[in-house]
Amino acid sequence: MIGILGGTFDPIHYGHLRTALDVQQCLSLSEVRFIPCGEPPHRNKPVAEPLQRLAMVRAAIAGEKTFVADDREIRRHGPSYMVDTLASLKKDFKSESLCLILGTDAFNGLEQWYQWQRILDLANIVVMQRPACDSKVKLNKRVLTLLKQRIVDVDTMKRSDNGKVCFVPVTQLDISATTIRQYWQENKSIHFFLPDSVLTLIQQQNIY
Ligand code: ATP
Repeated sequence: MIGILGGTFDPIHYGHLRTALDVQQCLSLSEVRFIPCGEPPHRNKPVAEPLQRLAMVRAAIAGEKTFVADDREIRRHGPSYMVDTLASLKKDFKSESLCLILGTDAFNGLEQWYQWQRILDLANIVVMQRPACDSKVKLNKRVLTLLKQRIVDVDTMKRSDNGKVCFVPVTQLDISATTIRQYWQENKSIHFFLPDSVLTLIQQQNIY
């Protein structure tokens, strides 16, 4: 099973990296593909350019053999719908099942995603909990009700090709890209929020 972590990664930080590793280990995923969004359909345009966000992802995961930077959303034109991304991954990895990794905030907005039901025809979904102090941590009851029949434990998920939802506890890291960009604007240090290789890119290319 392949894990898919989509995001703006503006910039990528330890809140993405450590939690992806937690999910990978819990579900024995063969790899995790980090897919920077080209044109986010559900939120504002990212601050950094797509290629800069891809470069930061590449820098962050360099050396972690089973973490892969996937540029398909950046290469594609138009809004980056996850359903299209999963369909294209399914073509490339015919014999593998896919598992879409979502933070609580992403999960809560799932109902608004383009053709969200088709997403579950193509993949399983694993939800990782955001830090408890985050107001977004509460799960959206409406989405939970919609998915009630699909919720399974980790072992069942491992045996399912698609259509199942499970919840995985992850390391609680109260880090967000928004905070990092804010700190940077205020000339506060962003050291230890993200890998040094990403910090170096931000400095060298004056990304923010
Ligand atoms: P921003 O602050 O700009 O909204 P972000 O830090 O939330 O960005 P995204 O690139 O939007 O980062 O997130 C990609 C995915 O990673 C989403 O599913 C999000 O819920 C999840 N995620 C981001 N930060 C964390 C964190 N600290 N812990 C767990 N999951 C996270």
